[in-house]
Amino acid sequence: MTSLVEEEIRSVPFECRGCWHVWEEDYQVRHIEDRHGNEGVIWLRAGVPVPPPSPGAICPRCGSQQATMFPEGYLARHPELRRPPEPEEPDPTPLLSPVRKPYY
Ligand SMILES: [Zn+2]
Repeated sequence: MTSLVEEEIRSVPFECRGCWHVWEEDYQVRHIEDRHGNEGVIWLRAGVPVPPPSPGAICPRCGSQQATMFPEGYLARHPELRRPPEPEEPDPTPLLSPVRKPYY
C-alpha cells in the first residue's frame, strides 16, 4: 500500500506595514497521511520545510517584520494592489498642444 502524497503550490500574499509593499511568496504544501491515518501538512519553500506562513514575514523591500498576511487569492480580487514590476514606459509622443497660441 502506498501512501498518498498530495502537493500543491500556494501563493500567500503579504503586505508590509512599514512601506506598504505588497508581495507574494510561493509555498509548496504537502499533504501527508501517516500510518495511523493522521493527516498532516508540510510547508516547503524550494524543497526545504519551513514554518507555515504567518504575519511577521520580513519585507523584501525595507526589511521590516511588520508584514500582514492576506487570505490566499486576495490579490486576484484586488489587482490594484499589485504594482507593475517595471516602471511604465514614458509616452514617446511629445506633448504638443494642437491649439496654436494666438498671435497678436
Ligand atoms: Zn516594507
